[in-house]
Amino acid sequence: MAAAARLAGGAPVSLLSRFRGALVAAVLGDCVGGEFEGAEDVPLDRVLQHLSGLEDETRGDGILQYSDDTAMMRCVAHSLLTRMGFDEQDMARSFAKEYSLAPGRGYGSGVIQVLRKLASPHLSDVFQPARAQFGGRGSFGNGGAMRAAPFALAFRNAADVRKYARFGAMLTHSCSLGYNGAVLQAIAVHLSLQGDLALPQKFINKLISEMEEVENDETARNDAKVLNLAEFPYCARLHIVKELMERNNVSIEEVISELGNGIAALESVPTAIFCVLHCLEPREGLPERYGGLERTIAYSLALGGDTDTIACMAGAIAGAHYGINAIPQSWLKSCEGSEEAEHLAERLFKLYDITQTDEVRVTTSDSDQAHDSHHHHHHHHHLKNTD
Ligand SMILES: [Mg+2]
Repeated sequence: MAAAARLAGGAPVSLLSRFRGALVAAVLGDCVGGEFEGAEDVPLDRVLQHLSGLEDETRGDGILQYSDDTAMMRCVAHSLLTRMGFDEQDMARSFAKEYSLAPGRGYGSGVIQVLRKLASPHLSDVFQPARAQFGGRGSFGNGGAMRAAPFALAFRNAADVRKYARFGAMLTHSCSLGYNGAVLQAIAVHLSLQGDLALPQKFINKLISEMEEVENDETARNDAKVLNLAEFPYCARLHIVKELMERNNVSIEEVISELGNGIAALESVPTAIFCVLHCLEPREGLPERYGGLERTIAYSLALGGDTDTIACMAGAIAGAHYGINAIPQSWLKSCEGSEEAEHLAERLFKLYDITQTDEVRVTTSDSDQAHDSHHHHHHHHHLKNTD
């Protein structure tokens, strides 16, 4: 089904192409977004100038370096591949090792504390350092969401995508607003891989109903209350996304004020989803020669704020829709790590391809208990019943 899905007027996009597109466009968003990270006001002209600069052949390969977003996403992908499933000990070690080898990738000061603790060989509960953050409240930043895409490429089943994206995020982000942002991002990539963006209304409605389930949880409800947010905060934001979709002329200022462009997951994951939906069609101010993927990346950068992460997340969702061929060669060449991302996507595809839903043992009670049991035991969740 997904393999036969067509883009309007274009060739069919194969599932493998979607896999490659998802990871490569995520890396691309991170690399090109670094230029504007933290900028308040990013004129579209500057974005287009930055992007057309990538076409300059004389600039050399890999000129734009990736940041923590890609560094941690690579760890997630590597860990899922080598363990053939989710193994929190392995993933935690991988994050810690990556940080110690390349600490200058723009990690936030909060997550650095966690990564240092995760490096300790005596640590038995790898979720503990994240839980101790911010006086025990945990982080609600977008660091879990920015690296969530590989979960959608490793697990076929939506329930597994939700479950493991959550645990993967909880290694650094223990506040429900943090890990639920990761769940939302992973589910958006999951649906996009299935071709669901062909029907944008259906896509956003599915996301809302998924998040209604995810946020209907005591911890999530309590966190929303404590943080003075709307009940079901992600659902509330997704309803705003839906409203903005229905309007023809939405200004960048409105998008920023209604959805945000910050480092909180709540202020960036729905924003990234909006960028993808908004750019399904040609938009004023963006070059006519741009396809949807190029529009999505350019538009994400024009929002300013946490541009590398928003473009990375939007890139993953858009890349899963448009496929690898939608990415300009010159952009690919300019970004460090894009080749490796393509290779990781191919390996994840093989893993996904051999995994049948009925081979994965996931029960509702398992996912309910997992939150607690994970604090004390080492669980290794294989994609297949090999253990
Ligand atoms: Mg970054």
